[in-house]
This record gives sequence, C-alpha cells and structure tokens, in this order.
Amino acid sequence: MIRLAAALAALSVTAPSLADDHAGDWSIVLHGGAGVIERGDMDAETETAYREALDAAIRRGGEILAEGGDAMDAVEAVIRILEDDPKFNAGIGAVFTSGGANELDSSIMRGSDMQAGAASGVTNVRHPISLARAVLENSPHVMLQGEGAETFAEEQELELVEPAYFFTERRWASMVRAVRRMGLPIPPRPEGAPEAEPIREGALDLMEREHAFGTVGVVALDQSGELVAGTSTGGTTAKRWGRVGDSPIIGAGTYATPICGVSATGTGEYFIRLNVAARICTQLEVLGEGEGTGQAAADSVIQDGLTEMGGDGGIVMLGHGEPIWSYNTAGMYRASMVSSGEVVVSIYGDEP
Ligand code: ASP
Repeated sequence: MIRLAAALAALSVTAPSLADDHAGDWSIVLHGGAGVIERGDMDAETETAYREALDAAIRRGGEILAEGGDAMDAVEAVIRILEDDPKFNAGIGAVFTSGGANELDSSIMRGSDMQAGAASGVTNVRHPISLARAVLENSPHVMLQGEGAETFAEEQELELVEPAYFFTERRWASMVRAVRRMGLPIPPRPEGAPEAEPIREGALDLMEREHAFGTVGVVALDQSGELVAGTSTGGTTAKRWGRVGDSPIIGAGTYATPICGVSATGTGEYFIRLNVAARICTQLEVLGEGEGTGQAAADSVIQDGLTEMGGDGGIVMLGHGEPIWSYNTAGMYRASMVSSGEVVVSIYGDEP
C-alpha cells in the first residue's frame, strides 16, 4: 500500500487537481476521426452535415458541464450521440471486419483516481461507451472482451441490439472493396441487414481517403476539476483475426491523469506501439504548466514520434484544462467548447 502511494505520488496522481486553481471553469474537446480529408473532397451538403453534427455534440457536452454536471456524464452523453450517428465509425455506422461483422471497441478513464474501463470486440451493445463506463464503475476489471463483455453488458442491463443494427451500406461497400483487394472471399451480408442499395463510387473514395477513420473521442473537464477521456470505434475496415486497435487500450487510445486527458484516432497499431495517449500526458508533466506546454507535449508525440514511426492520425486533449489538438493527417473532424461559451468546429488542416 505504501509502495502504491509512493508510486502514485511519483506520477503526481496525488498532486492537487485542476479544481484548485480553475474553480468553476470547464472545457470539452472531441474528435470524429482523422484522415486525408481535404477541401473539395466532400460536397457542401456532406460537409454541412458533419459540421452540424460536431457542433450539436460539443454543445450538448457544454450544456451538461455548464449546468454543473460531471465530466463522466458529459463524455458518455456526447459519445452516445456520436455512436448513434451513422457518419462516424462508432456504434451504428461502424466499419466491418473482413468476416462481415461489426466488432466494437471502447474505453473511458477518469483523471482524479486514474480508474479506467474498456471493452473490445462487442457485437450487440448499442452504446459501447456505456459498457466501458460500467466496466469502470461496476466491475473489478479494467478491460473485458468479446462474449464475456457482452454477458456483463446484459447483466448491467445495458441496451442490447441485433448485430445488423450497426449495418450501413457505405461501410459494407467499403469493406467489400478492401476484401477484394486483399484477395479474400466476400463474406455474406449479415442476417437482418437491409436490401443492398447502390453506393456512389465517389463516396467510397472519400471514405478510403478518410482511411475509413471516424472513431470518436471526447475529453471533458467539469467544474469540480474532474477530467475524463473516452473513445469509441469500430476499428479499421476489413480488420482480421480478432484484431484490436488502440481505442480500447488504456494508454494508447485513451488516457487521463488529474491534469491531462487524451483521446486518439488513427492507425491503431502505431498508437499502441508508441503508447500515444499516456506518452503525451507524461510529456506534459515533464514540461509543466505554462503557455504552450500542452501543444508542445501533443506535437512532440504526434508530429515527431508518430510521424517518424510511419503512423498517421491525431489526438484531442485537455492539458491543464486547455483544449488542444494535434494530427499529422490532412484533416480531423474536431470541436471544442470552453466555459466562456466559445465553440470551435473544424475539419480541415487550414482551420484553427
Ligand atoms: N484508432 C482506431 C483503430 O485503430 C481507428 C481510428 O481511429 O479510425 O482501431
């Protein structure tokens, strides 16, 4: 016990939380995936739909925090909205495995006590982020996978759905294209999926340039100074053999300490190897509080470390309460809101 206290002190887990010097302030930041998203790739209608979705989601989170709600509720509520939106690769609209299934991953972490919950490879839980939260709050474990995770979800009375609930034609078509390219057999359409409908090739091209990303993640700081980070995804298109990405892995795709919260999106294999989310928070501790330290911590890991390794993607982060993003792709769906009421919604690399 004494050894644990010493270890936590060394990690400055017992250091004063953000509540001490930021009383009443709150902030929230989210991403909806990163990739080669460039001006002209999307028609005006599609772009507007993305911007409206990001705007509505961040404002909902802001509303919860402004009313004094807690960061855990804000992160869960915003991710649930994005999981219900077929534009994003989480919940309905998730990408397919090469075997024609949706296998969903999620995680959530609280900064003050560094408690975490995660789930991987679930096929019938409508809101994987709520499952991650239930793992954190109601199980002695940190990460559950597959059937066991689904049994736990049922025991927790979370909403269960048929696997075909997550089906969208464009994600299916994109998987079929990838599987063909890989020389693998095309899997049968899932039982209960709607009749096949034609998909514009252009829409598929955009999805591929987006790297079929669209993972969603949120970091929130509430008025009491509590910081929570969460991430939810379908993973990568045509993934094989029970592949697990970074999103449900604490330290890789999601991380939170008392002063730092990160959610990532991108080529998960690299994010796991570089332990991206935790590395950024460690870097922030080294740099300390001050003008630009959050951005410097994030950039050192994404612009330098990840890029040198050959991975691509990005992160959103709250560093000492300040919303920050960093990505090495052309764009990232992203938004932030702070207690002054200022909202930022951006997609492309030439936007703030
Ligand atoms: N990071 C996710 C994964 O590798 C995918 C993504 O962010 O789009 O599973």
